[in-house]
Amino acid sequence: MRLYNTLTRQQEPFEPLRDHTVRMYTCGLTVYARGHIGNFRTFVSVDVLRRALKYIGGWQMRHVMNFTDVDDKTIAGAEREGVGLREYTDRYIAAFREDAARLGIEPVEETPRATDPANLDAMATMIRQLEANGHTYTSDGSVYFKIASLPDYGKLARLDHDGMQAGARVDTDEYNKENARDFVLWKATKPGEPTWDCGVGPGRPGWHIECSAMALRLLGEAPIDIHTGGIDLVFPHHENEIAQSEGATGKPFSRFWIHTEHLLVDGQKMSKSLGNVYTLSDITERGFRVSALRYLLLSAHHRKQLNFTWTGMQQAEEALRRLIDCLDRLDTVTSNESHPEMVRAATAARAAFDEALSDDLNTAAGLAAMFDLVRIVNTAIDSRQIGRPDLKTVHHAFEHFDKVLGVISLRRAEDAQPPIPEAEIQAAIEARQAARRARQFAEADRIRDDMAARGVIFEDGPQGTRWKRK
Ligand code: AMP
Ligand code: ZN
Repeated sequence: MRLYNTLTRQQEPFEPLRDHTVRMYTCGLTVYARGHIGNFRTFVSVDVLRRALKYIGGWQMRHVMNFTDVDDKTIAGAEREGVGLREYTDRYIAAFREDAARLGIEPVEETPRATDPANLDAMATMIRQLEANGHTYTSDGSVYFKIASLPDYGKLARLDHDGMQAGARVDTDEYNKENARDFVLWKATKPGEPTWDCGVGPGRPGWHIECSAMALRLLGEAPIDIHTGGIDLVFPHHENEIAQSEGATGKPFSRFWIHTEHLLVDGQKMSKSLGNVYTLSDITERGFRVSALRYLLLSAHHRKQLNFTWTGMQQAEEALRRLIDCLDRLDTVTSNESHPEMVRAATAARAAFDEALSDDLNTAAGLAAMFDLVRIVNTAIDSRQIGRPDLKTVHHAFEHFDKVLGVISLRRAEDAQPPIPEAEIQAAIEARQAARRARQFAEADRIRDDMAARGVIFEDGPQGTRWKRK
């Protein structure tokens, strides 16, 4: 498998360093708000990476995705609402877990919170190592990282050393490349802010130290294999993570850095003022399914910007439907004849799919390979050139695509969930049956149309009436 590495600005062959196990860290959500579809573009693309490593690379995963539950934004949010930090962030962690499950994102091995005591201790230990190695200084009770003490500071973001403001300090978690400065590792307690004392003075961690410490605590000795996140994290967050981890351990932090480009909405950056910060409920309120959103989010290459539009959502829905319809049609194949060319086509599609995903996760080309097979299958069904003996290979191919993309099973799971209570559907089926028996066909049709308007379609068959989602 080849992956583009932001650190080297090129594609490189990837395999894990040790034990056939990929040790991967993803910067998770800052839990001061419900995740939006931009955040989920990154998390879905990381999920596809994870699945490709497992199901195409054949490796095991040890994958950590944190919750940033203490930083400038979470503290400000909790204060604004007048609740404790833990109570405030708990809500958004629960919301994230719910949204991630609805998007078919595989649970990862570890989801640490920055404020867990073991993690705070690991941060303090790392800060003490940095102190011992001469990378820090203290000012007004806060501990800072001295960027001039690390000659290759700036290697990920390719900072120009002349432009760095060595000696100048920044206390905020976020700032830009143009004013690279000494950044805060541990912030002295301010009135009203949460505070911990783990051996580096009373205070709270800066954002960057959280990830360095949690990654190495949970993934073991540096270097880890892969570090991921959205493109906006390259500077300062990931640059500073490298500085901290390498300054403390003297070893490279992560072998690969993989970044997902941003999702735009109608060609613009998402922002509260534009009213285009959509969450999953905005998607379903417009009548779209979350499976279609997953499809849309993974349809573009992760290193290209993706522009979200409602037309794009509609197209994603149609593509997904074409896929599911094709799979449903396979159930209608009854011939017992075998067709070697069908088996060859399915095998070739699977190989093309794996080739595409192994080429820096080219999901667009992977989907093209899958839809080539959809077209071939549909044509074969139309011309009766497919028989039951061929189905195993064809099904295996689609199951493989689904393991990596995760849209078919997600759609099926949604389909199995009735849009209205199951009992109501059953009652409507019986009422319609009764109306038909009484030859009240207009009434029977009314019941059917009424259910259709509520998202449930009736299908009459030899075993009686079954329902499916519209
Ligand atoms: P945050 O909660 O702000 O730390 O963001 C969580 C993740 O979402 C990070 O990896 C961000 O880089 C990513 N992210 C934020 N906005 C977008 C966006 N518009 N498109 C893609 N990823 C994003
Ligand atoms: Zn992080």
